Amino acid sequence: MKRYLFALLVCFPICFSSLVFSQNKNQIILDSIFKTSSEVYFATTITDKNEIHALTRLISIDNVSGLTIYAYANRKQFSHFLDLGYNYSILPHPGSLLKEEDLNMRGKNSKSPITNWNFYPTYEEYIDEMNGFAASYPNICKVVPIGTSVQGRQLLAVKISDSLNIEQGEPEVFLTSSIHGDETTGYVLMLHLIDSLLTGYGQNTRITNLVNNYQIFINPLANPDGTYRGGNNTVAGATRYNANDVDLNRNFPDPKGGPHPDQNAWQTETEAFMRFDSINHFVMSINFHGGEELFNYPWDTWAKLHADDEWLNHVGREYADTVHLYSPIGYFTGPSYSGNGVTNGFAWYEVEGGRQDYTTYFHNGREVTLEISSTGTPPASYLTNYWKYNVRSFLNYIEESSYGINGRVSDSVTNLPILAKVLALGHDKDNSFVYSKLPSGWYFRPINQGTYAFTFSAPGYFSKTITGITASNWNTTRLNVKLVPLSIGFVEDLEHKQTLVYPNPSDGNTKLMIPEGQSQVISVEIFNSLGLLVLTKQLSKSNGSQFCPLDLTSLANGFYLLKMTGGMLTYENRIIIRK
Ligand SMILES: [Zn+2]
Repeated sequence: MKRYLFALLVCFPICFSSLVFSQNKNQIILDSIFKTSSEVYFATTITDKNEIHALTRLISIDNVSGLTIYAYANRKQFSHFLDLGYNYSILPHPGSLLKEEDLNMRGKNSKSPITNWNFYPTYEEYIDEMNGFAASYPNICKVVPIGTSVQGRQLLAVKISDSLNIEQGEPEVFLTSSIHGDETTGYVLMLHLIDSLLTGYGQNTRITNLVNNYQIFINPLANPDGTYRGGNNTVAGATRYNANDVDLNRNFPDPKGGPHPDQNAWQTETEAFMRFDSINHFVMSINFHGGEELFNYPWDTWAKLHADDEWLNHVGREYADTVHLYSPIGYFTGPSYSGNGVTNGFAWYEVEGGRQDYTTYFHNGREVTLEISSTGTPPASYLTNYWKYNVRSFLNYIEESSYGINGRVSDSVTNLPILAKVLALGHDKDNSFVYSKLPSGWYFRPINQGTYAFTFSAPGYFSKTITGITASNWNTTRLNVKLVPLSIGFVEDLEHKQTLVYPNPSDGNTKLMIPEGQSQVISVEIFNSLGLLVLTKQLSKSNGSQFCPLDLTSLANGFYLLKMTGGMLTYENRIIIRK
């Protein structure tokens, strides 16, 4: 005991003083790094990829190449990072690499019409352009406010559709860019896309089809405070983080990490986008970034695969392969470990609190993270090249939202639309099921080619399972569904009648399926085609089985009406005896 005490007495002052020394040293480092900037960009090396699990909660990892990590940090984050004792090298900040003339800033007072999207707009010019789109094309474009940023800048989307104010049962697709304020390629490409959709409407068959049959929402700039950190007139000095030095793409609720995986309160911008996701019904979405060139699909937060992993990979390959046809060799070939331009998020590196997993998990969506240029803010003269490489893939992606299985869910009695859950049996997991939307009752379920069983359910209705639904890639299988209300006593389930009697037609040796919620004893009455009662039977439901044998061999060939009563409910089913 004495020896331990001695060791403690000797060791404590030495350890304490070295701790104080290193803290002082860290303070000096922090003071020097954060003297003129609010965030730092740096590289560090790990010895094992598992270290990312802890680091991703501490700093904002931007890229991982082998065992080299590229990351951003604010002062508090970098202070925690220094405590870990990693070696690091500070890198030039991606938002401050270019000279002003390389940015080709276009101001609000620029009188020349836009003929070439080879510039970055000032903040005022951006707002002007967004309002200008809606003013010039009021029948197919309107500005949709999402909210405001911490510093009061506007978060805007445009909605492009031939039915701006009526929900026609079309898939809604959302494209949002530059949640990282210094990743600005997608910002200008989205403005270019809006312009092309509007000017191409009625001129180009494919674009006209897109505007007529989809509801396209585009938000070019998700983090204006970060992009205009250097002032409203330039994107030089743009930061990754928002005005509170928070990485917005780590600030969302996470399926694994809970509501606040980054330990920060939800930022004004985060709350605005969460609200926007809630009031709309996005079938698919893209979150545009820079710093790499790849298609990153869910999940980022955990290693398990998304139920639609094959489909997500199919859409990713379609995106990347098309890009490769129209771009120089070497473009869009990340991540470093595969080099083919498509990756599952977690396989690249683990992220908690990202928009992609939030939207995909909590809104039953399909969102991907598109890293579109290896340089966060490339020279403005490069922007038209990135456009040429990617534009066809943008259109492909939007069109994917209408493939797979879709249709309308409605009440079998009133035909009114229903908000129903659409579940692919034995396939869906981790919230990959979808819902139909109101007021149209339409659902959209993009899915990889194959044969599926779907269960449609809604409060107040009998669930309905439909088997043998075949989907094929690049095609649409229409499946309209009527659900029978629980509340009515007499039910004729016109669409689903074959599920009560198996087989149907039969030679008289049939089985009756007893719907859930029925009593143990079922009365069966059979009426002939003249409406005369020709047979009655009492059936007892055997334990554990939904099916009761039903002998109808005494009936002659023909059409009959089978009426089944048990408890409060009555079902009718037209049956055919054919011996
Ligand atoms: Zn990013």
